[in-house]
Amino acid sequence: MTGVSRMTGVSRMPSAHHCDCGARIILAATAGRRQALDWVPDPQGTAAAYQDALGTWRVRILEPGEQPLHPERRYQLHVASCPLKPAPSVPAAGVAFLAEYKRARSERAKEKRNRRGRRPAPQVTGIRIDPGRNQ
Ligand SMILES: [Zn+2]
Repeated sequence: MTGVSRMTGVSRMPSAHHCDCGARIILAATAGRRQALDWVPDPQGTAAAYQDALGTWRVRILEPGEQPLHPERRYQLHVASCPLKPAPSVPAAGVAFLAEYKRARSERAKEKRNRRGRRPAPQVTGIRIDPGRNQ
């Protein structure tokens, strides 16, 4: 057997990126998706970000009045200053589609469950229940 390619180490994502507008940005991980931050810390920024030991940028959005904790610094979200505003309708439509898809999928799963879990018809025991009993 040949062709077993040797893993040449995981290429780590560089933390510095450039937006399509040419500005240097930080791509930081949030719970859900990556956020583009302006490269330069901004004391007026709404995001608190830091780089963890593995070089990954972590960001969270600060509540109004909240201060960044120790390793964090304030950054501004790049979308706030980006001259190339991404069309807001595109991600919104994506989210709506995803929600619809998930709903349809769970609905289908539920339907399957019901079918699987359907009780068998009552057995024929020969015992007759008095039909007038509940009247
Ligand atoms: Zn930009």
